[in-house]
Amino acid sequence: GPMTTQLEIDRFSAGYGRIMVCRDVQLTIERGEVVAVLGANGAGKSTFLQGLAGLNDSQGTIRLDGTSIEGLNAAARARAGLAFVPEQRGNVFPHMTVLENLAIAGGKGASGATRELIDEVFPALEKYRTRQAGLLSGGEQQMLAIAMALMSEPAMMLLDEPSQGLAPTLLRSIAASLARLKQGGITMLVAEQNRWFAGEIADRALLVGGGRLTPEE
Ligand code: ATP
Repeated sequence: GPMTTQLEIDRFSAGYGRIMVCRDVQLTIERGEVVAVLGANGAGKSTFLQGLAGLNDSQGTIRLDGTSIEGLNAAARARAGLAFVPEQRGNVFPHMTVLENLAIAGGKGASGATRELIDEVFPALEKYRTRQAGLLSGGEQQMLAIAMALMSEPAMMLLDEPSQGLAPTLLRSIAASLARLKQGGITMLVAEQNRWFAGEIADRALLVGGGRLTPEE
C-alpha cells in the first residue's frame, strides 16, 4: 500500500541532452527493500542512478515517501532523503582524513545513533579516523563512501557499483555491511555487475539493456 512505498518511478527517462539512455522506466520500491540493477558495462546503470539523484537530464515521475522530487536539483533530492554513493568512491576527498570526510558529509550533524551505526558497521573507519582517505585501501574507501552517505540519515541510498575493484574478502565484508544496513531499515537501489554480490544483498534484481529495465527471471 501507499504507506510502505519508498520510491515510485513512472515513465522515467534519463540521459544526456536529448539522448535518453534509459527510457520509460516504471518501478516501485517498498520501504526496507534492497533492489539490484544488473547490466554490462555501458548498459546504463550509472545513467539511471544519476538520473534519480538529479545529476543528469531526466524526465518523468519520481516520488520519495509519496512526495514528488522530480523538479528538485541534486542537493535538494539529497536533503529530501535520497543519498547517492557514486562509483569509484567518487564522493571521498582523498586528501582529507576519514573524520574530515565524515564531517563534511554530515552537514548540520548526524545523530549519535547514526554515528554508532557507522562505528558498528564499519569498525575499520574508527581505527583509521585520523588517516588520509586516499591512503586507505579500495575497500576501506568504499566503506567511507557509504558511511558518508549515511551521515545524511537518508531514507534511501543509491549505490553505484559498490563491489567495483574490491578483493574477495572485502567483497564479503561490504556485502555483510550492506546486509546489516538493510536490517536497520535502509532502502537501497544498487547498480552492480557482480551477480554474486547482488545476490548477497538484494531482495530482487532488474536487468538494464536496450534502454529498458526488466525484472530478472
Ligand atoms: P559502467 O559500469 O561502465 O558505468 P553503466 O551501465 O553504468 O556502465 P553508463 O555509464 O550509464 O553505463 O553509460 C550508458 C551510456 O551512456 C553509454 O553509451 C555511455 O557512453 C553514455 N554516457 C555516459 N555518460 C555520458 C555523458 N556524460 N554524456 C553522454 N553520454 C554518456
